[in-house]
Amino acid sequence: MSVETQKETLGFQTEVKQLLHLMIHSLYSNKEIFLRELISNASDAVDKLRFEALAKPELLEGGGELGIRISFDKDAKTVTLEDNGIGMNRDDVVTHLGTIAKSGTADFMKNLTGDQKKDSHLIGQFGVGFYSAFIVADQVDVYSRRAGTAASEGVHWSSKGEGEFEVANVEKAERGTRIVLHLKSAEDEFADGYRLRNIIKKYSDHIALPIELPKESTPAEGEEAPAQEWETVNRASALWTRPRTDIKDEEYQEFYKHVGHDYENPLSWSHNKVEGKLEYTSLLYVPARAPFDLYQREAPRGLKLYVQRVFVMDQAESFLPLYLRFIKGVVDSNDLSLNVSREILQKDPIIDSMKTALTKRVLDMLEKLAKNEPEQYKGFWKNFGQVLKEGPAEDFANKEKIAGLLRFASTSDDSGEQSVGLADYLARVKEGQDKVYYLSGESYAQVKNSPHLEVFRKKGIEVLLLTDRIDEWLMSYLTEFDGKGFVDVARGDLDLGKLDSEEDKKAQEEIAKDKEGLVERLKAALGDSVSEVRVSHRLTDSPAILAIGEQDLGLQMRQILEASGQKVPDSKPIFEFNPNHPLIAKLDVEQSEDRFADFSHILFDQAALAAGDSLKDPAGYVRRLNKLLVELSV
Ligand code: ADP
Ligand code: MG
Repeated sequence: MSVETQKETLGFQTEVKQLLHLMIHSLYSNKEIFLRELISNASDAVDKLRFEALAKPELLEGGGELGIRISFDKDAKTVTLEDNGIGMNRDDVVTHLGTIAKSGTADFMKNLTGDQKKDSHLIGQFGVGFYSAFIVADQVDVYSRRAGTAASEGVHWSSKGEGEFEVANVEKAERGTRIVLHLKSAEDEFADGYRLRNIIKKYSDHIALPIELPKESTPAEGEEAPAQEWETVNRASALWTRPRTDIKDEEYQEFYKHVGHDYENPLSWSHNKVEGKLEYTSLLYVPARAPFDLYQREAPRGLKLYVQRVFVMDQAESFLPLYLRFIKGVVDSNDLSLNVSREILQKDPIIDSMKTALTKRVLDMLEKLAKNEPEQYKGFWKNFGQVLKEGPAEDFANKEKIAGLLRFASTSDDSGEQSVGLADYLARVKEGQDKVYYLSGESYAQVKNSPHLEVFRKKGIEVLLLTDRIDEWLMSYLTEFDGKGFVDVARGDLDLGKLDSEEDKKAQEEIAKDKEGLVERLKAALGDSVSEVRVSHRLTDSPAILAIGEQDLGLQMRQILEASGQKVPDSKPIFEFNPNHPLIAKLDVEQSEDRFADFSHILFDQAALAAGDSLKDPAGYVRRLNKLLVELSV
């Protein structure tokens, strides 16, 4: 044992303490993943060394094969992993093994429920990582030395996985990291060659480095035990370089967990080798669940980039548009230079054409998923639909393709789920219908009962119900699908085109003529509150409705802008009344102009309420309504 100097005891960051506690208590049914996580880190460390050594070959300290060795001691109940990767210095160890660097950690912790099943999913999403060692160990010792530093600059980190850890300087001859797990007494089954081999085959076969175990050999009688021999137990070739037909689903899935830092299987993947003008291989995955930081601007995203099989960078963002930021995977290019940087990636025309091709791959993969696995696609939509809705604005060229992937709630489905695609909608349009009708609003409950839908119900025409905050904005980018335009049913003068018969139209004109007087009286009574008053053709049950002007902002956009403190251009609604409603009939014969005005304002306010808007003068509404109620009851 070498001398340790500058020993100090430090506390874990609060979040680490919470994570440790949760991990130990919620992942016990899947303990063996600790090995996958530690191997994954060792593999990352070797990737980083290879990359840094391109510029500084001296980091390799004279060569030797890069790899991972795992040994065990049944009597001492230890498992030891050793890699000759990049290693860590004292500062690295303190930050990497004492804190969680990911942004949004605190938010993530707030999401934990205490329900073990749910939490284990969340922890999985968060990346189980190094701390998973404490699922099986009650003490972990890490000895590490950063490549390129002197043997005297080794560091020893030790912890029992409770509140604190110790660090000390120590002599370490070999570069890289050695991790010694002191197994809990109930977990000593892991100090076993057969068990370790099986776990490595199961989870880490795809790791591109040799993972070695001690060769089990019994020395012949009378002979001295030979020097330790090692044997590689994994396949040790980069998975994406192998032909597709050679790779089992389980291998793709395990590889995903490594690159995606995920704990669950992916929904789908697409593996392609491109040859010709550009040469590259891509392996892209759709995760099953959204990461907790999907909506954080700064959250990590992007693909793992390799150049001729050498790892170059994590989170290379330039290969996919922002609206596909949930896609995980690798891209391995033969055309880029090994010392490519993020800045170069942003400008390189090669990257642009790769981005176009990779985007199309992802959209094709999603189309296939939607077609062949509609149930899975539902899950996809729940997790990532909101992000995909950013697509039509960001990616004009693929607008139509993205539109085909969108799912909406609809009057055809009472569940309120977003399950109707535009192709489904068009497949069942009424004869003569050449538009896609939609209504947007704050919540499903509100739009589902909106008076705007009355005429559509009567005629049996389907209307899409859009209630996500982003929807109105989305619709400002979507103008048509498959040649059919979109019509907001709450907007303008509803023209049902061929869906209204000649008789319908004639009848409408007659009524309009008949009610000209009432229209004028209402205009006078409502004055400044409205831009126009007219007879409605879209109501069957409600007395009145407020329509939005053709060019005006919709309610949702107005509310979003107002909430963000922006000045919203003033716009007045159009007041439409139902000529066949008994209240309107009463209004029409009302002699007192005073009462007529009160009555009109009540109808106006009710129509605003039904549209999900708030009243400008709620007290006035109550006063007028009560006045009428009093008159009624005498
Ligand atoms: P992640 O791998 O997602 O970053 P981990 O908890 O698994 O999270 O690891 C935390 C960090 O500790 C790694 O990012 C790395 O910087 C460092 N680390 C862990 N294991 C090793 C290792 N064997 N060699 C070098 N660095 C390591
Ligand atoms: Mg890790």
